[in-house]
Amino acid sequence: MRPALRALLSLWLVLAGAGAARAETIVFTDVNVVPMDRERVIPRTTVIVTDGVISSIGIKAKLPAGTPVIDGKGAWLLPGLADMHNHVTSRDDLALLLANGVTTMLNMGEATNAFAGRTRIAVNKGEVPGPHIFTGFVVDGDPQYGHFVVRTPEEARATVRLAKANGYSFIKVYNNLSAEAFAALAAEAKAQGIGVVGHNVKAVGLAKQLAAGQAMVAHVEEFFYGFFPEPPEGDQQAPPDDARIAEAIALLKAHGAFVTSDLFTYRTIAAQFGKPDVVQAYLAAPEARYLAPGDRIDWARSGYQKKAIDLSRRVAFEARFVKAMADAGVPLITGGDAPSIPGLVPGWALHGEIDAMLEAGLPPWQALSAATRTPGEFIAKTVPEAPKFGMVAPGYRADLLLVADNPLAKPATLRTPLGVMANGRWHDAPALRGMLEAVAAVRQVP
Ligand SMILES: [Zn+2]
Repeated sequence: MRPALRALLSLWLVLAGAGAARAETIVFTDVNVVPMDRERVIPRTTVIVTDGVISSIGIKAKLPAGTPVIDGKGAWLLPGLADMHNHVTSRDDLALLLANGVTTMLNMGEATNAFAGRTRIAVNKGEVPGPHIFTGFVVDGDPQYGHFVVRTPEEARATVRLAKANGYSFIKVYNNLSAEAFAALAAEAKAQGIGVVGHNVKAVGLAKQLAAGQAMVAHVEEFFYGFFPEPPEGDQQAPPDDARIAEAIALLKAHGAFVTSDLFTYRTIAAQFGKPDVVQAYLAAPEARYLAPGDRIDWARSGYQKKAIDLSRRVAFEARFVKAMADAGVPLITGGDAPSIPGLVPGWALHGEIDAMLEAGLPPWQALSAATRTPGEFIAKTVPEAPKFGMVAPGYRADLLLVADNPLAKPATLRTPLGVMANGRWHDAPALRGMLEAVAAVRQVP
């Protein structure tokens, strides 16, 4: 290379490098911090964020003139919320999550390749607004639910490697996998350092799945199908015996397994069985104006309303089960399961879950832990190379939620953020409202 050209190239590299490494600092001043490391509030302090990472708390550093300052006077700053079970696949749905304070999400299946690859990478780099994205690749043993089918151990091993190569962080196992395919998936996932999460696999059962290393159970009700004895033939409405809750808890604790609390999802499903008018009410709810037209159509045509099943006793059991798991220290993580099920709008569904946990008797500290700190612990365990999140602490991703009240005393404040920081970007309340209006404008159903 000619010296002049080399000099030009190195100058360009220096400038490009400087651009990438530029210290972008944002300061929150006089703010009450809810760090979520333990149940406490650090009153009226300073939080400094540099390049999307929390660099300090409580240190009033002298910063260059022009450093952006967010006045936190009279407000509370906590970690952003995590939606650890959704089916979000579009940039507009990412905006709905963000406007609701969600700064981490786990897509649990049916993401397009473009979403799992291109969109995920762009969002996680901070180029597109949205929560930090993780994705799970769903595999099943037959095509009846429309999932990717894996039948032999060879196929299972190859699938794990392909999922990893395509940027998925998890294999999500589904109901009808064979025992051989599940065993091969679990072994290869362990070898490749990729997490196994998902449903009860009928041919295996939750006890053996957790023993094989499955890190997370994707719905509380999987225990109905894969752990508690099947209800009498034809009685899908009977709840399990409360006396067996202790065994389920012992199993989870023995393996350090996480459970996605989806009380709101199950309750919402139960409420619409045989009731088309309930689905119509979901479609008329204020937040439904942000739904994608395709989701509106799917909701209107959904099958739940066509068959009458009374799941109310199971809904009540689930609340008792979640409360018992929380009391016993089982690591619970929140999931909203939107938008595939009628009644579950991305973002709003997660607040529905936090409220359902509170109604089940969990104190705000526990419900909030399930939406912040515990998802951070889950990812730290299963995707150790991912940046840390879920607490307001130095070195953690600056995923932050600014609210008007102390969320440990008034959790309802979480529904109306004063601002959200995700992937290093700050969005104040007017910006979040603008995001929602932009989504409503493009999605307006004639
Ligand atoms: Zn789901």
